[in-house]
Amino acid sequence: MYDVFIIGAGPAGLTAAIYAARSGLRVAVAEKQVPGGQIAYTHQLENYPGFARGISGGEFSQQLREQAERFGAELVSDEIGSVCLKGEQKSAQGRAGNYQARSVILAMGAAPRKLGLAGEEEMVGSGLSYCATCDGAFFRGRDAVVIGGGDTAFEDALYLADIAKSVTLVHRRNEFRAQEYLIRKAKEKKNLSMLLGYRPAALEGTLGFEAVTLEQAETGEQKRLAADGLFVAIGRIPDTGILQGEMTLDAAGYLQAGEDTKTEIAGVFAAGDVRAKSLRQVATAVSDGAVAAEQAREYLMR
Ligand code: NAP
Repeated sequence: MYDVFIIGAGPAGLTAAIYAARSGLRVAVAEKQVPGGQIAYTHQLENYPGFARGISGGEFSQQLREQAERFGAELVSDEIGSVCLKGEQKSAQGRAGNYQARSVILAMGAAPRKLGLAGEEEMVGSGLSYCATCDGAFFRGRDAVVIGGGDTAFEDALYLADIAKSVTLVHRRNEFRAQEYLIRKAKEKKNLSMLLGYRPAALEGTLGFEAVTLEQAETGEQKRLAADGLFVAIGRIPDTGILQGEMTLDAAGYLQAGEDTKTEIAGVFAAGDVRAKSLRQVATAVSDGAVAAEQAREYLMR
């Protein structure tokens, strides 16, 4: 019986583990892939405070893991398939075992929606990115393309326009999903152009991203757009499948929990990208992790 069972070993889950284990609680963190979550696959983390010269995502993940283990947190390599969260005794069922706990922190994260094109995976970190705030600085004075027509795509395009030489925002329809003020701001940027009615059809590049082939949605006409960087901002998918039927999720699948990370179920907390929030960054994930651990400790004390 663990005091705190954490699902997901990204920055939110591992920070929760550090705080909870350091306060003397018996903690386990389950992770189906590698510890670090999305950050483990990030080339360079440049905007996390305290690392003036940046740190590689792999190194940062390793440090988080070591720190959690140093305080006694147990890292469990297992994929959790279902959970029973109601009541005082909670449980999680994994491929490798079943886990019992008095409190649970849900920190499964959210993954960017992929284009689903050949070569996409290999180009991540080599010209293709799902996060302009994370990787935009690598494209200073260069040409960038942003795919998407929602708020994220526009925020990314605006962020990049202040860094890159040129930004082309490509959207599959002729109408945007983004808020009007973002569209207005984008139209004011001299180095930002928009290409409407085209969807990405193929990616090109040998050592990394070089060009994207775009296809006119109605006519099928194709055009090649060469650039240094491709930013994909077509939404995110929260990893909340195991909570279907167990908890209320919002329309996009995120968990509704406030800044105190408390969910609708007593003793269950949501931390990091899995929580409905406006800014999904490592800095906000670790903040959630610390709050969730403290809330779990208070809950257990009561
Ligand atoms: P989103 O609103 O779901 O928009 C995704 C965009 O990507 C849509 O324009 C969609 O096109 C396009 N798209 C989806 N799949 C595609 C594909 N396979 N190929 C090409 N294009 C594709 O996602 P988001 O922009 O990440 O925003 C998510 C949520 O966070 C929204 O509720 C948003 O309001 C919120 N958010 C708010 C702020 C803010 O308030 N400042 C900032 C960022 C995000 P269609 O339009 O044709 O479907």
